[in-house]
Amino acid sequence: MTTTLLSVARTLDNCTVLGPGTRAVIWVQGCPLRCRGCVAAETLPFEGGTPRPVAELTEWLVGLSQVAGGVEGVTLSGGEPFSQAAALVELIDTVRARRPDFSVMAYSGFRYEALCRGDAGRRALLDRLDLLIDGPYVASKHGSLRWRGSANQRVLALSDRYAHVLTESDTSAGIELSLATDGSFAWAGVPPTSGFREGFEAHLAARGFVLHAEARREP
Ligand code: SF4
Repeated sequence: MTTTLLSVARTLDNCTVLGPGTRAVIWVQGCPLRCRGCVAAETLPFEGGTPRPVAELTEWLVGLSQVAGGVEGVTLSGGEPFSQAAALVELIDTVRARRPDFSVMAYSGFRYEALCRGDAGRRALLDRLDLLIDGPYVASKHGSLRWRGSANQRVLALSDRYAHVLTESDTSAGIELSLATDGSFAWAGVPPTSGFREGFEAHLAARGFVLHAEARREP
């Protein structure tokens, strides 16, 4: 039996600014696009991620969904989730075998129409999504938008689960900071203004902190 691996840049147990409700987040490693001003530059190379067994990620997600006040789903970000479609399809199926109501939202730098014309693996991932944020980030179209950076990107309800979000307020969900017990910290969310990351990192650097790709605090 082969072990399916997903190349992961990082994960987050708990997030309320990247999709509806409280969600786990997986940032996959690797993206074939190079959007100018991409806020996740460290996730772009296909080398350098951590290979994580799908079975291990399944246990993690199921566990997060079972605790009181746990997550209602996962958001797949990156990097480009559709570059690892087969592993993500397996992950969704194994989680939903145990938690049928587990929701899935994904980002893609590709437009929905292009994904529909893609290979069977990409279409299989599309079939399993409740929400898709599609299209490349375009810095000149940056705005304070819910869950996405630029106005060309669309929020598409691919199931009935979250169809209601399309009628809700469409302003930035903000940024969340999280601090781990080991002193490391990270941020998540889509900045409401362009250049946020550079300004934030400069602000931290002036106070002796460096935000690495792994979002780790300098000792
Ligand atoms: S598609 Fe997303 S991850 Fe890829 S370069 Fe564009 S903004 Fe960055």
